[in-house]
Amino acid sequence: MFTERYRSHHDAEAHLARLLKPAPISGGRPGGPGERPGGGAAGKPMPGDYSGELEERLRGESGAAGAGASGAGVYIHIPYCDRICTFCNLNRKESGGADLEAYTGYLVSEIKTWGAYRYIREGSFSAVYLGGGTPTVLSTRQLETLLKALKDNLPLSGDCEITVESAQHNLGPEKAAALERAGVNRFSLGIQTVSERGRALLGRTLPEEKAREHLRALRENFGGVLGIDIIYSYPGETLAELRQDAELCINSGIDSVSFYSLMIQEGSALARSIADKAVTFERSIESDRAAHRLFYQTLKEAGFSLLELTKLARPGRDRYRYIRVQYGRGDLLPIGSGAGGRIAGFPVYSLAPGRRFVSPGTGPSEKYHRMLGLLEFARYDPALLCGELDPEAGAAVRGALSALAGEGLLEKTEDGGYSPTAEGVFWGNNMAAAILEAAVTASGAKNPADPAEAATQTVQGVGAPAEASHGRR
Ligand code: SF4
Repeated sequence: MFTERYRSHHDAEAHLARLLKPAPISGGRPGGPGERPGGGAAGKPMPGDYSGELEERLRGESGAAGAGASGAGVYIHIPYCDRICTFCNLNRKESGGADLEAYTGYLVSEIKTWGAYRYIREGSFSAVYLGGGTPTVLSTRQLETLLKALKDNLPLSGDCEITVESAQHNLGPEKAAALERAGVNRFSLGIQTVSERGRALLGRTLPEEKAREHLRALRENFGGVLGIDIIYSYPGETLAELRQDAELCINSGIDSVSFYSLMIQEGSALARSIADKAVTFERSIESDRAAHRLFYQTLKEAGFSLLELTKLARPGRDRYRYIRVQYGRGDLLPIGSGAGGRIAGFPVYSLAPGRRFVSPGTGPSEKYHRMLGLLEFARYDPALLCGELDPEAGAAVRGALSALAGEGLLEKTEDGGYSPTAEGVFWGNNMAAAILEAAVTASGAKNPADPAEAATQTVQGVGAPAEASHGRR
């Protein structure tokens, strides 16, 4: 049915962006009466910035963060890594020579600035995510300072999920214990593979045995949720190597695993090695499917269940609230250079110290982004999916669901919904794109003059990605 596989939500998002690409707006200034020079307090004027409107909303009398169904979270971006993985070209820099103390100070001041608004102060945040980059390039003291600032200035719920992304080599036992004492209750660890050959190819730091030992010790001593990342279908990977990675997930006591088919990011060292033919990379749909099937089925048989299209978890062990806030388009406070989020319905991009860009956020595209969020989970409820659509678009979505079931990618659930089959999980992001395409086409919303979408393109044009991080591990 599909000829090219969308490997992550980013691919489905890109497909949606193409569907909604706004027609050029005369004068080149998107937005309505609220537009004004912006880019934050100290920024250069930028068309389509709604900082003033957001300020009014945050200081006004109505609403509070987290009041909506999806709750509220905080995303903190630390765009530094002490070692660059060969496959990566995300928004990050090498930390050597960076002034991490100054960066910590900047994050703390941003937290305080946001915490002073009534809308934030009177809200409730149930998830915090420190992503990057590698947040644990910060020292234990710097991370403690950050966590204290969060607790002192933002209304975190009593059971707030606090996640820290980390590499293994910069999360020693003392640092892990100190972070747990400071409130961290979820680690997301980039392991990728335990194959020695695969680790060298992907630029992982620790040798296999040390990586295994680190995970064993962390599991024994850390009481919170432990998730790891696994990459499959990297150059030359055998199914035997992937089986070892699946067995690691089963036997190490982790709570959840994000599993991705390797994405070759343009500009990464691995992309260059492949282009120069120093590394041979032959991946077909069939080989990718065989790898996915092996990993997915092995973990399912061991009792893991699908949490979202690229994440498996032991039942009841990882609520992953952060992703529910993010996919549900709840309030997500973006802190740090390159962080993207959304407050009171306004998409907000934190560009650099003193520079912020706020998009209007109320356009025809919004409901499709909410749909995309729903489609990332392992259960499709037609009523929920079609809730905001006009009747024609709703009928098109139901038709698309039924067609995908006919292809064996979805199966009916007892309550009238659908869940993806194993093959459907493999094609999950293609299915999401196809369902959205059906909705957009039927509603005639193609190429709407959508100020929110146009403003988002403006900010991306100045180099601030909405999702700068791994972010959804
Ligand atoms: S994959 Fe993560 S840890 Fe590796 S270089 Fe990229 S941002 Fe850093």
